[in-house]
Amino acid sequence: MFKKILIANRGEIALRIVRACQQMGIKSVVVYSQSDKDTLAVRLADESVCIGPAPAPKSYLNQEAIISAAVMSGAEAIHPGYGFLAENAAFAEAVTDAGLVFIGPTAQNIRQMGDKVEAKKQMLLAGVPCVPGSEGALPETENEVLALAEKVGYPVIIKAASGGGGRGMRVVDKQSELLKAIAMTKSEAEANFGDSVVYLERYLQKPRHIEVQVLADTQGHAIHLGERDCSMQRRHQKVIEEAPAPGISESQRQQIGEACVNACKRMGYVGAGTFEFLYENGEFFFIEMNTRIQVEHTITELVSGIDIVQAQITVAAGLPLSYQQTDVKLSGHAFECRINAENPYTFLPTPGKISYCHFPAGMGVRVDSHVESGSVIPPSYDSLVAKICVYAADRATAVNYMQAALKEASIEGIDTNLALHKRLFEDKGFQEGEVSIHYLEQWIEQNI
Ligand code: ADP
Repeated sequence: MFKKILIANRGEIALRIVRACQQMGIKSVVVYSQSDKDTLAVRLADESVCIGPAPAPKSYLNQEAIISAAVMSGAEAIHPGYGFLAENAAFAEAVTDAGLVFIGPTAQNIRQMGDKVEAKKQMLLAGVPCVPGSEGALPETENEVLALAEKVGYPVIIKAASGGGGRGMRVVDKQSELLKAIAMTKSEAEANFGDSVVYLERYLQKPRHIEVQVLADTQGHAIHLGERDCSMQRRHQKVIEEAPAPGISESQRQQIGEACVNACKRMGYVGAGTFEFLYENGEFFFIEMNTRIQVEHTITELVSGIDIVQAQITVAAGLPLSYQQTDVKLSGHAFECRINAENPYTFLPTPGKISYCHFPAGMGVRVDSHVESGSVIPPSYDSLVAKICVYAADRATAVNYMQAALKEASIEGIDTNLALHKRLFEDKGFQEGEVSIHYLEQWIEQNI
């Protein structure tokens, strides 16, 4: 096992990794930007290194500064968290080249899954169901493209192979708009991602977003920890997540889970990963794989009892997974509310000083947050303030627990979306479950 790990991130995930290190008896080194010097992760880590000013390109994206901090502090491995450099294949390579361990999959796997055309190709080979569409980049000639779209059926969606964060895609309703839409998406993709390759899929009308958590080690073992439902989204940003996904049967869970596990084994995947699917009319359709820890991993930890960050560290050290698939016993129901520093009506970020805060606690409640009374939310980074999670025997009880937890939570000095969460947990449609990815935006339109 490692003796010392460097954490190349900030916010709640940096703290989450510091805690995992402490529980495993591993020393932690946190890197931080000038605006993060007074944060909990910096205070609680064994060591900390300032790597630059607030803007991320000068600090949390500064690969050289991070790697030299790791080398100078004697860390053996780097945990990238999520965001920033977590899915940057060149960084994973640079870490390895410096003689350190990247806590995550190989650069090759990151690269493959970062290219969505390549990712879909791999999934089809592994028997993972994908959204019907172009199997690869779009064909060469206009006639071939038009014929393909006709076969897939309108509406279709044009997506950039290197797209991410909900950008680089366009829905097309009819044939007369197809070629123009492809040309526009291509030039945007070239400008934004430096890669003009686009592909085409059937546009699903009312899908749910369901994703499968996997863990794999260097010895060829892979397991899945069931699924999460992340359909409550605004502008492709997840707002509430839950595990398990309501209405998914045990046999569906095992079937889709096994397909993901097979894909991991096929590509020699190592670490934690998430297969994202759209789910409609009882069918799963792969859209992409995230090759990192995700924000919402916490709710899977609650229903599985497995510490995913500790597992990442364990397998990165070359040790086998401590669990087989038969050891994974999912039980109960968990929710996560992402509490963001944002205006509850305009959704604009509200950086600033938290004059006072209190988070809920007690039976069935878990809060992962890097803030405390007096903390400052800087404008330079994402607006996540806290992840309020609850866990109960069944979904209805978990709804009650979340209502109580949200009532107890208090954040003063800045606006947050706490009030939005309170209203959503009172909403009958959401309480019934199985809502589509459009539900939240429609709700906001009608209620705010
Ligand atoms: P990104 O990497 O940018 O997040 P994804 O491929 O995960 O891109 O797609 C982001 C979102 O776009 C999905 O969560 C879904 O809301 C929508 N989307 C993507 N593909 C389709 C599709 N084939 N049909 C309907 N909606 C889609």
